[in-house]
Amino acid sequence: MTTTATTPRALRPPRAGRANGQWAVDGTAPLNANEEWKQEEGGLSVRARIEEVYSKEGFGSIPPQDLSGRFRWWGLYTQRRPGIDGGRTAQLDDTELSDEYFMLRARLDGGALTLEQLRVLAQISTEFARGTADISDRQNLQYHWIRIEDVPEIWRRLEAVGLQTTEACGDTPRVVLGSPLAGIAADEIIDPTPVIDEIVERFIGDPELANLPRKFKTAVTGHPSLDVVHEINDVSLVGVVHPELGPGYDLWVGGGLSTAPRLAERLGTFVPEEHAAEVWHGVVRIFRDYGYRRLRAKARLKFLLAEWGPAEFRRVLEEEYLGYALPDGPAPARATTPGDHVGVHRQKDGNHYVGAAPVVGRVSGEVLTGLADLMADAGSGRVRFTPHQKLVVLDVAPDRLDALVSGLEALGLSVSPSPFRRNTIACTGIEFCKLAIVETKAAAATAITELEQRLADVTPALDTPISLHVNGCPNSCARVQVADIGLKGQLLTVDGEQVPGFQVHLGGGLASPERDEAGLGRTMRGLKVTADELPDLVERLVRRFLDQREGGETFSA
Ligand code: SF4
Repeated sequence: MTTTATTPRALRPPRAGRANGQWAVDGTAPLNANEEWKQEEGGLSVRARIEEVYSKEGFGSIPPQDLSGRFRWWGLYTQRRPGIDGGRTAQLDDTELSDEYFMLRARLDGGALTLEQLRVLAQISTEFARGTADISDRQNLQYHWIRIEDVPEIWRRLEAVGLQTTEACGDTPRVVLGSPLAGIAADEIIDPTPVIDEIVERFIGDPELANLPRKFKTAVTGHPSLDVVHEINDVSLVGVVHPELGPGYDLWVGGGLSTAPRLAERLGTFVPEEHAAEVWHGVVRIFRDYGYRRLRAKARLKFLLAEWGPAEFRRVLEEEYLGYALPDGPAPARATTPGDHVGVHRQKDGNHYVGAAPVVGRVSGEVLTGLADLMADAGSGRVRFTPHQKLVVLDVAPDRLDALVSGLEALGLSVSPSPFRRNTIACTGIEFCKLAIVETKAAAATAITELEQRLADVTPALDTPISLHVNGCPNSCARVQVADIGLKGQLLTVDGEQVPGFQVHLGGGLASPERDEAGLGRTMRGLKVTADELPDLVERLVRRFLDQREGGETFSA
């Protein structure tokens, strides 16, 4: 294979010398249609109309501005109309691409669920979503085939057990990623639960933060495995121990992938636990007030950080928003263990947690009900979803482990998955996503099965993970640039015909036991594969790596 690699270009801030829609600099006059309707009426207020009008009068009663705009503030997107191929994605507008059914995202802050909540999620899938349920790589649960008529009843059931879809999408503070091991691991530096709870209780649904320039992603962990992909969030708090002040958080800002990837940077500050929610609030208000709103493609916080740099960002945070200086602090140490938490491990209280891998996050109402039954039999009342499309059952007594593990395996939730199943994630793709160019989940599942068979001879020698991230378009929901092998969906021309395929990126990764720090993968110009050729490509790359590696070399080293 002959290829050349290109590294991602440095992010360019918007053009200077004109208003870029920064409220604190240019004033709040809207500079585009999107900002106009957001200012006219925010997304949160559409809920009343959904409950009182649209759910009673049906899909046809919903005007476009609510349907394609404000609905997102409540976790609702229309799903892709079946039968529209990827070649037409860019040619059709949102109305033409949209089906009369919705994707509904339940935000699960920290990925944390009780047994009761899990049963409610399972029942909603079975009753209202044709059995669909996907664990996303942001610890959410996503349903498809939702009818507008059923949305109020779904909200009633979710909210009765303390769950919500508020600001699950839209230009808002999205779900707070949290360590799946919060509060249970013996080696935890600090339990992030109080910080996550405070952020959610005080600020989610706050109208003051409900019109941001774009989405705002948060991650909080206190576990030394660095298990919340902190380098690719708008703001992250990562547990560290200050030599004099004890455990607290290291603050990172400005990460994000999509078509203009940028890794978050440390501000060099130490954030004591009691200030963490307030510091988060300062960062999100900086984004609200100084974020660029003229062009949506340049509206994420990473563009502001690229312009200001970490020192200026810290100065503005301390002087304009907090009113006090934060102490300097240490960086997180290298990750100690894999952050997906797959397998059986001991908790600090003598019980065990059990991490299991569905195939690319896809479960169902039936599987979630089966999981709840197994947990009840095992005496566990808590489960956590992970940012790697996995799940972790907590609080399992030693004498219940064997039954739980074999029950999970029978459900298709493997506790000892092959390296290919364990390290592969996939986004929604063309099955339901209006922006997709190619199918992803089934292609990834087929690749996993094929690779398990074809590479059985070398699997025992594969002592380092090789991550495979399958994306249906350049938006990178499945993190194409931070995978060992990243696949970006596009159409390829083969024998004069357009067929679904992927542009290949190699060598990316987040901090892990295998690598000190995150790095963006490189686009391998000329290395593209059709969806059918995907297993061939991975097989070739894995075999070549094993043949040519020296010493303990990792795939991306
Ligand atoms: Fe849709 Fe593209 Fe995101 Fe996949 S990467 S879920 S195809 S927007």
